[in-house]
Amino acid sequence: MGQFNCLICFHEQHGPVYQVKEMMFGLAEAFPYVQCARCGTIQQLNPPADMAPYYPEGYYSLSGLSLSGLQVRWMKQFRFWLYQNTGFSLFKPIYGEWLKRLDAKRGDAIGDIGCGNGQLLYELYASGYRNLTGYDPFIDADLYPGTGLQIFKKSLFDIQGSFDVLMLHHAFEHMNSPDTAFAKVAALLNPSGRLLIRVPVSDGEAWTVFREDWVQLDAPRHYFIPSLAAMKILAQRHGLDLFHVDFDSTAFQFWGSRKYQQGQALYETKDRPQSAAKDTWQLERKARELNAVSKGDQAAFYFRKSQD
Ligand SMILES: [Zn+2]
Repeated sequence: MGQFNCLICFHEQHGPVYQVKEMMFGLAEAFPYVQCARCGTIQQLNPPADMAPYYPEGYYSLSGLSLSGLQVRWMKQFRFWLYQNTGFSLFKPIYGEWLKRLDAKRGDAIGDIGCGNGQLLYELYASGYRNLTGYDPFIDADLYPGTGLQIFKKSLFDIQGSFDVLMLHHAFEHMNSPDTAFAKVAALLNPSGRLLIRVPVSDGEAWTVFREDWVQLDAPRHYFIPSLAAMKILAQRHGLDLFHVDFDSTAFQFWGSRKYQQGQALYETKDRPQSAAKDTWQLERKARELNAVSKGDQAAFYFRKSQD
């Protein structure tokens, strides 16, 4: 084995090698992953030079863009207004919490890096935001150029400009160099800019329990899975304050990993295994319990530029 360097803390020692199979599509090709002995980041040892084959046509249509009709759009706008102004959350949109913590205003320049089909940006547009830009290197082409919601076929390092708010929802771990990627993201923020990075984390109980079958390793698409400590290292190194962390794991960590344990591909069938469907409610509760003690398998990290 060649020289190992942790992608985040640059430490040279790692733990056991895990052979992790591509199981989203069930290709079953194995990729070695190790965990840094110092900061706990999990990383892939020899990632494929060409990742394109692992983002097959239809990768994003798996989550399909659902467009709002005028009425639905109006309702979303009202629902979001209600949540922002009263905290009323019976129909709390998932992004309400993110935007509130990010102090995202309607006119703010908001960027979603690794936005996929742009579903989230479309939701924000429907909620009245008008300065939205998305970037994703794996989409077919640019979308809606010249509007208040533009989506570009671009990778992080081709992005120019300055943003009030940047978000990476399960995109960061798809980048092969977290240190330079984090530096680039920090440089794209204006002096009062805020940043949200949602990623799987290696601190979760799921990694300890499921190991190479942990669904969020997502070999080989994930180059690395950071630990909480690793995210703190990156923030400090690149001049950002990590001001809040929310563990936001779901039942997916259990039913997805169980599928992999049973040798089933994630998208083999559209349905969850019969056994898992029955206890979804219990699994969601277990996920909430783990989140409460910082042991869920994913988290939302909120940063802002350091003022000193
Ligand atoms: Zn490390």
